[in-house]
Amino acid sequence: MNYNRLYEKFQELFGKGATLFVSPGRVNLIGEHTDYNGGFVLPAAIDKVIAVAIKPNDTNRIRAYSLDLSDAAEFDLSEKPNKQWASYIYGVVAEIGKKGLTIGGFDCVFGGNVPLGAGLSSSAALESVFAYALNELYQLGLSRFDMAKIGQAAEHNAVGVRCGIMDQFASVFGQKGHLIQLDCRSLEYELVPFDPKGYRLVLLDTQVKHSLASSEYNVRRAECEAGVSTVKKRYPDVQLLRDVTLEMLDEFQAELPESTYRRCRYVIEENLRLLTATAALKASDYVTFGKMMYGSHEGLSTQYNVSCAELDFLVDIARKCNVLGARMMGGGFGGCTINLVSDEAYDAFIQEAKTLYKQSFGREPRVYEVHISDGSRQLKLD
Ligand code: ADP
Ligand code: MG
Repeated sequence: MNYNRLYEKFQELFGKGATLFVSPGRVNLIGEHTDYNGGFVLPAAIDKVIAVAIKPNDTNRIRAYSLDLSDAAEFDLSEKPNKQWASYIYGVVAEIGKKGLTIGGFDCVFGGNVPLGAGLSSSAALESVFAYALNELYQLGLSRFDMAKIGQAAEHNAVGVRCGIMDQFASVFGQKGHLIQLDCRSLEYELVPFDPKGYRLVLLDTQVKHSLASSEYNVRRAECEAGVSTVKKRYPDVQLLRDVTLEMLDEFQAELPESTYRRCRYVIEENLRLLTATAALKASDYVTFGKMMYGSHEGLSTQYNVSCAELDFLVDIARKCNVLGARMMGGGFGGCTINLVSDEAYDAFIQEAKTLYKQSFGREPRVYEVHISDGSRQLKLD
């Protein structure tokens, strides 16, 4: 990430005196489709970020320039812009306003290296960096938790994507060398050390997004709710699948449609896998951690049915190349696999994945090596 370019562009457009802030994209090591069931997720901030050079301009207007899109936008603090990328900035400003806090207009240039739409949450990075920057510039007194909530609300209200809190949470709270075990029901979190010496984290982007993704997402949510309402008949305290044990679910196996049973079973097992995985991390047992990643993929593919040929193919190659752990990441039907690979296995794995994927699907997967990094922060240029 070339921060000097950002700073120079700001000087060219708006003059001197900008402050620089960054917020990262994120990965999720394990815990997929658990968030809306009140379960756990295990994300981390990565070393791919969105950065902004920003300065108050003593007006009521926002003048913004997107370095990556070479596009400018200018709009009033209270005016929804029509450019999509600008609506993320507006969304954050609007949510700050809803809290009764006052800010002024500002000039800014932003850009980054989080790939757009690849499932690394460039959108959360964008929201978080503005929430963080505006909090600092105007001394708003927001907590990191407030900033994550503001980013999520901006995505709901200004962009129209009803996302959970994980992405913004990871972007704002991330810490180098740590994963974040987030309880999606209570929003309590715990930092878990992650320092697999001799291993690398790499994402392989299938570069496909099958159109099933959003319709099947809604079907899965409905299947989980159907499972809960059946279990509730005899266990009235149950609110979410988080409250259901495997033993409880099995009591209802005969009553539930086969597919609903399998979906619910996946979610309960995925939560257990995540807890096994974090316990393993605390004991520096990365072998068990890797097994849980493969188990997650297996469940997503065969029980929850949200994988696709491209994702399964890349995880199979990982297995054959002695990758320690691999699974699809994100909602499914495309996007990336996440792989924990030893230094020795790395080059052969990447080569094999590129060659074989191209033979079967006509193009190479994109490769993103990532490092676990700090969350939102101010940057000092030397
Ligand atoms: P992701 O999985 O990366 O979060 P989204 O579709 O949620 O994908 O968000 C991508 C959108 O966020 C882009 O279409 C764009 O509007 C905005 N965005 C993200 N990164 C940038 C950037 N570097 N420059 C301009 N806009 C960006
Ligand atoms: Mg997004």
